Amino acid sequence: MSQSSLPTPSLGQLFKQHPDAVAAAVCALLLFFGWLTLQLGWVGLAVIVLAAAYVIGGYESTREGLTTLIKEHQLDVDLLMIVAALGAAGLGLWRQEYYLIVDGAVLILIFAISGALEGYAMQRTERNIRSLMAVTPDTARLLQPAGEQMVPVEKLQVGDEILVKPGELIPTDAIILAGYSSLNEASITGESMPVEKQAGDEVFAGTINGNGALKLRVHQPPESSLIQRVIQLVKQAQTEAPPSQLFIERFERSYAQVIVLVGILLAITPPIFLGWDWETTIYRALIFLVVASPCALMASIMPTLLSGIANGARQGILFKNGTQLEMIGRVKAIAFDKTGTLTTGNVTVVQVTPATGESETDVLRMAAALEAYSEHPIGQAIVQAAQLQQIELPTATDVQAQTGLGILGKVNGQLIVVGKAKYGQLSLEYSSREQNLLSREKLNQGCSLPPELTTASQQLEATGKTVVWVVCDDKILGIIALADKERPLAAQTVKRLRQLGIEQVVMLTGDNASTAESIAKATGIEQVYAELLPEDKVSVIRQLQRQYGAVAMVGDGINDAPALATASVGIAMGAAGSDVALETADIVLMANRLEKLEQAVYLGRRATRIVQQNIVFALSFIVLLLIANFAGSINMPLGVIGHEGSTLIVTLSGLRLLRN
Ligand code: ADP
Ligand code: MG
Repeated sequence: MSQSSLPTPSLGQLFKQHPDAVAAAVCALLLFFGWLTLQLGWVGLAVIVLAAAYVIGGYESTREGLTTLIKEHQLDVDLLMIVAALGAAGLGLWRQEYYLIVDGAVLILIFAISGALEGYAMQRTERNIRSLMAVTPDTARLLQPAGEQMVPVEKLQVGDEILVKPGELIPTDAIILAGYSSLNEASITGESMPVEKQAGDEVFAGTINGNGALKLRVHQPPESSLIQRVIQLVKQAQTEAPPSQLFIERFERSYAQVIVLVGILLAITPPIFLGWDWETTIYRALIFLVVASPCALMASIMPTLLSGIANGARQGILFKNGTQLEMIGRVKAIAFDKTGTLTTGNVTVVQVTPATGESETDVLRMAAALEAYSEHPIGQAIVQAAQLQQIELPTATDVQAQTGLGILGKVNGQLIVVGKAKYGQLSLEYSSREQNLLSREKLNQGCSLPPELTTASQQLEATGKTVVWVVCDDKILGIIALADKERPLAAQTVKRLRQLGIEQVVMLTGDNASTAESIAKATGIEQVYAELLPEDKVSVIRQLQRQYGAVAMVGDGINDAPALATASVGIAMGAAGSDVALETADIVLMANRLEKLEQAVYLGRRATRIVQQNIVFALSFIVLLLIANFAGSINMPLGVIGHEGSTLIVTLSGLRLLRN
C-alpha cells in the first residue's frame, strides 16, 4: 500500500468490512422515515419505506435461515424472527393498524443490531488472539562468504547463519552464535519485560531484538518455528466449535420447531374452541414467537468462551478451544511431569564415571554419538558435554529412541545403549514387540553394574541427579550423572494451586524414585509416581480420573503425549515442549511459564461462572416474558426489546472476560 495518501474508506469499503453494521444503520434510517411518514398520515409511502427496512434489515437473516431450511430441513431462530415480523406486518395491513408494521420493523432492526454487535465481539476476539502474534518478517539477512544477502524467510535452511540488527524482528527460530541483546518476547509470552540473551541461547521468530546486533544460526526449518506452529493451532481452534456450543445449536433447531408448532396452536385453537377473537390471538402468538426464541440462551456461551480464550492468549496461555477453558476450571487433580515441566529441562552433565578399564572420554563419545539424534533434554545435555570437551563423535547408525527409556543404535558395528538402569530388561520386551534391532541375548548379558558404579550411582540419585547407563554390546562403559533444576516458580505454583482448591497434585516421571523424591520435596509435591513408562503415566491418569473426576496433566515430552491425550485437560509447555506434546495438548503454556497454570484455572472458573449466570439469566427472562405475554401485559415492541435486550446483556456479560 502506498504511504503518501491516507485512504478514506469509501461507502463500498465500509460495507465490505462491516456489512451487518451498515445494513442495520440503513434499516434504522428507513424505519425512522417510515414512522415519520406514518405520523404525517402518508400511509402508502410509509408502507413502501417500511417494506424497504424489512428487506434491508432482514436480508441476511432470511438468507441464512432459508439456507438452513433448504439444506438441512431445519428451522433456525433467525427465520423465526422474520416470520414473527412478517406476521406483525400482515396483521397490521389486514387490520389497517399500520403501527404494527413499525413494530415488526423494530424487531428486524434490533435483530440486525444485535447480529452486528455479536459479529463485532467475534471480530474483536479474533483480533485479540492474532495481535498476540506479531507479524514475522518476510525476509532475513543471510550471511554468506560473499557477503550479506536479503533472502525470503522460507528459503532459510537449517545451519544458515543470519544477522539481525538492533530493533529488528527475529525472522525465524535460531540460536545466538555471537552478540548479546535483550529481546521483547511479548508476542509469544505476553510478557513485556525484555529478556536478556547471549551466545548459546535460543531466540524465537516474531520477537523483537533490543539493542544488540545478533549473529544467529538457524536450527530448525522456518515453517516449524514456534510462532508458526502456534498460528496453526489457533487457526484450528477457531474453526472447531466446542461440543457445548454444538449441543446448543442442535438444541436450537429442535426448540425452534417446537416453538413454531406451539405458536400455531396458540394462534388457532383459542378462536376455534374458545371463540376468542382472531386478531388478538394471532398478535399474542406472534409475540410468543419472539419472546420464546432462545437467542439469549445461544449468546450465553460462545462470546464468553471466546473472550476467555482471547484473555488467555494475551497472557501466554493458549486454549485450543472453549471446552478446555470450561474444563480446566473444574479440575480437581493435577499431574506434573518432572523433567522439562517441574524442572527447567536445562539438564547438564555433572559427572561421568567410567567402569574400570574404560575412559571418561569413551563413555561420553559413545553416548553422544547416539544422543546427537535425540530431542530429549538428557540427550542434548550429553551432546553438549561432549562438544565442550571437543570430543569428535563417530557416526551412529540405526538409532532408535525408546520413549521414556533411553536410546540405542550402532557405532562401528557395536550395539550401544544409553538409558535408565532398567532399560536393559525393559527393552527386551519392547524389542520383540516393535521388532527393532535389539536382540534378546545381547541385552540379557551384563546388565548389572559393577560394585564401584553401584555406590556412585546410589549416591548421585540420592542427591537428585539422574543417572543413565552407557552400555556397549555386553559391556558397561560407565554412567553419566545429570542434574536439572526445578523451575524457580514451581513450588509457588503448586502451593497456589492447592490454595485454589486443587485437591491432589502428583508428580509422574520416568526417572528413578530417589531422584524424583528429591525434586518432589523441593517443589512441595507429596505424591510421586516414579519409573513410569509412557503407558504407565496413562494408567495413573485414569486412576486419578476415577478418584477425582476432571484431571489435568502437564507435560512437555513425547513420553507425556499419551497421558496428555488421556487427561481431561492436557497442558503442554510451550517453548520447551516437543511437537507431539504441543499438538496433543489442549492448552499450551507459552514460553514454559508454569506459573500461568494458576491463571488458567482461575480464568476457567470465571468463564464457567459467567456462562452459568448467563444461562440462568436468559432462561428466567424467557419465562418472565412468556408469563407477561400470557397475562396480556406486553405488546410487540416490549416483547422485542425484552428479548433482544436480554440477548445483548448476556453477550456483553461474556465480553467481561476480555478484561484482566
Ligand atoms: P520424565 O518423565 O521425567 O520427563 P522421561 O520419561 O523422558 O522422563 O525419561 C525417563 C528416563 O528414561 C530418564 O530419566 C532417563 O533415565 C531415560 N531416558 C529417556 N530418554 C533418554 C535419552 N535420550 N538418553 C538417555 N536416557 C534417557
Ligand atoms: Mg518431560
